[in-house]
Amino acid sequence: MGFKIKNGRNGWGLTALCIALAMGCAACRTARPEGIEASKGHAATPAAHFSQDSAYAFVARQVAFGPRTPGSAAHDRCADYLYAVLNDCADTVIRQPFTAERWDGKAMQGVNLVACFAPQNPRRVLLAAHWDSRPYADQEADSTLHRTPIDGANDGASGVGVLLEAARVLAAHAPAVGVDIVLFDLEDAGRPDFIPYTPGDENTWCKGSQHWAAHPHTPGYTAAYGILLDMVGNRQPMFAQEATSLYYAADILDKVWGVAAESGYGAVFVPNRTGGIIDDHLFVNRLARIPMIDIIHKDFGTPTGFFPQWHTLQDNMAQIDPNTLGIVGKTVLETLYRE
Ligand SMILES: [Zn+2]
Repeated sequence: MGFKIKNGRNGWGLTALCIALAMGCAACRTARPEGIEASKGHAATPAAHFSQDSAYAFVARQVAFGPRTPGSAAHDRCADYLYAVLNDCADTVIRQPFTAERWDGKAMQGVNLVACFAPQNPRRVLLAAHWDSRPYADQEADSTLHRTPIDGANDGASGVGVLLEAARVLAAHAPAVGVDIVLFDLEDAGRPDFIPYTPGDENTWCKGSQHWAAHPHTPGYTAAYGILLDMVGNRQPMFAQEATSLYYAADILDKVWGVAAESGYGAVFVPNRTGGIIDDHLFVNRLARIPMIDIIHKDFGTPTGFFPQWHTLQDNMAQIDPNTLGIVGKTVLETLYRE
């Protein structure tokens, strides 16, 4: 995030899917990383089937490709991996390639991935995260590291890991609403801090959401609301009510924060209000006019307001706490299952 301020299934396909689900959802079992079991015990609600360990494994798998920066082999391989996982669980998955201009005028190739659940359902909820990682460790104290790409375990992979595990649960337990999971590319290639600010730099971030909001995967696409996940994996998480989310979608903030409080996560989803940030939800709200909130960690103890390892080489798997992924995943899913 930035700085402050195939195969649509027809009716027979769905029937086949239902049979597969009755037999234990073989397709999605393959999507879960090896060695990870589903949540055990009798679930009071389908959201309880969200496995924090599975989500953690999905984060680790992305990071293992290496930094997912535009133009890298890791970027291409990770896109194929994400498509394959989503394709195991969703009714339809769409690759949306695009070209975007970098802060220095160079062309970047990106690809958004869109996974649709129950695409015929007119009432829809949009879930999103960015899957690219930052090409610049520009918050490192050592300036010789500023052009080194980062793992983006928390800033990027954490939100995607939660959504991949959510996709697995949604495939097995359909909510009353249709769901679209959008993984945005090129969110984090914005102007680095070592280059002086120029007006309009805000638009150098969030290229994938800017493209998708102007060219949605389905013409005229809309959703009742959206939830963006960014930096949702670190230890001692705190999610505050961010100003852009409040401005565009206060009722959705209330809904999600209410679910979190009822789930026992009121100490994590706090009522504090914080300043607006440039993130994908800004462009979805502005350009696609879908009310969207951002669930993003707020650190009141750092100068940046983000987690201490933000945009450094230490944003790696050591920062990721499965428990945090579980809190976020269960809150988002419980919100969907209450619709
Ligand atoms: Zn970032």
